[in-house]
Amino acid sequence: MMNIDASAMRLLNRASVLRYIRDHKLTTRIAISEATGLTRATVSSLVETLLEEGFVDEVGYGASSGGRKPVMLRFNADAAYSIGVDVQISHMTTVVCNIRGDIAYKNVRRLLNAQTGQKIDQLSLLEWIQTEVKAALAHVPPSPHGITGIGLAVPGLVNFTTGFIYHLPNLSISNWGIREVLQEQFALPVYVDNDANCGAFAEYEKRNVPKSSIIYVNAGIGVGVGLILNGQLFRGRDGLAGEFGHMTIEENGVPCSCGNRGCFEQYASEQSLMRYLEELQIHVSPSAEISSILEQVIYESYLGSEKYQFAFERLGTYLGIGMANIANALNPDEIVLGGRVSMAYKFLSERMISTFKQRAISQNREIPIVMGYVNGVAIGAAGIAMNESLFASPVASVG
Ligand SMILES: [Zn+2]
Repeated sequence: MMNIDASAMRLLNRASVLRYIRDHKLTTRIAISEATGLTRATVSSLVETLLEEGFVDEVGYGASSGGRKPVMLRFNADAAYSIGVDVQISHMTTVVCNIRGDIAYKNVRRLLNAQTGQKIDQLSLLEWIQTEVKAALAHVPPSPHGITGIGLAVPGLVNFTTGFIYHLPNLSISNWGIREVLQEQFALPVYVDNDANCGAFAEYEKRNVPKSSIIYVNAGIGVGVGLILNGQLFRGRDGLAGEFGHMTIEENGVPCSCGNRGCFEQYASEQSLMRYLEELQIHVSPSAEISSILEQVIYESYLGSEKYQFAFERLGTYLGIGMANIANALNPDEIVLGGRVSMAYKFLSERMISTFKQRAISQNREIPIVMGYVNGVAIGAAGIAMNESLFASPVASVG
């Protein structure tokens, strides 16, 4: 067991008391003491601090169990806010969220050049992130603690601990120390994470089922997977865990940007949808953006076009195969489909779920596959920033 000094221990206890109050509608000091195993004196002292800091309110008295009536405590979700930025290839979503992840402000900006369909370069992307964060800061509601941090979700390989972006394949951006630039400009802690990790975190926080395992399949122009295993976001040694988008599902399949062939991402993403349309002899204008093609196919499917629906069924089949592989490896409680492809859930879910049930081992077949919620990645980015400043265990930083 690591040695923890008294102040680190107090921070650790403070985080668990605050987390308990957050996760219960109304509670009392006695209930916190019983649930956390901390002495009543320790709980009282920590609650006193949290009351002063505005994270907790006293709201009347509860029923007596013989002695004095206990004072009821309630979490103040609006005591602080954080900013979440979800950078995608075609657009960027920026939110301001309170501690519970409720959105107080949201803005969506296009990143692709509407005329040329050209992707954004590194410098322009930095400028847009700076502009969007500034706009978000101007819309933060008044609160005791203001903004606690900024979370940045990016579609690619990033080391969360160092904030260093290794590679954003679909944006052609590599080796980028963006965290330092933003931290210096805004004088706030900045956390950079993979977008699928952020989506997974938001889904886990929403469910609030301790120790559960959630697989978040983020299918957009590429496919990334975020892993919550036994209640913890699993990032791996270098922060690169969850790259299931590059597991091989076809031996001699389509070449992938990673250098391999037949990757899951080449069969279950928006890019693969375009290929399926071409194979069905459906003409896609070469100047059309991938982002608008997905919407077009959804529209045609609603109108009842069987060819377009067939393209979604192929996508659903491969999603089901990939999800079965992941479920067989990790045996999660739930699988969530997020990302832009989830907009077509209605047209691909039947095939996705039936394929999953055929391919997964029998014990895994009943694992629910559900649709992720809107803005989940941006909310998750804000949530990770909030979590690091309010609830993260200080043990990791104790030498
Ligand atoms: Zn690949």
